[in-house]
Amino acid sequence: MSDQTKGLYNKYQIINRETGQEADGQFFVLKPATDPAARAALVTYAEATSNEQLGIDILNWVSSLPKLAKCDWCDTDVKGETELTHPHMFDMAIGGRMCRNCWEHDREVYKGSYGEDIGEFKPIKGVQA
Ligand SMILES: [Zn+2]
Repeated sequence: MSDQTKGLYNKYQIINRETGQEADGQFFVLKPATDPAARAALVTYAEATSNEQLGIDILNWVSSLPKLAKCDWCDTDVKGETELTHPHMFDMAIGGRMCRNCWEHDREVYKGSYGEDIGEFKPIKGVQA
């Protein structure tokens, strides 16, 4: 089951670096590198905290992260254009950007149905991380 359907659950164990022991209390872990909701939550936190330096540091951190991008077929967020490609010859949606999963799915479908190979996934920019 993906994280997108699981709801709230006890996913991570938090270890206090000073004691090496599991921290007491309840925590919520955010991963802004890949999660736009985490970025929104961090910006809200930065604005709400009374620790001015922490707020500045969080805003600087979030704004320094690579821009997220989204697959126009499955609506999945990806890390950036290194994980997206332009549409293939059988689905020329102008300006659309497709993730590797959608590309591989379409590749199998067109191989099976039409005997045509749309080729390898080629990222828009650079090499996939
Ligand atoms: Zn996709």
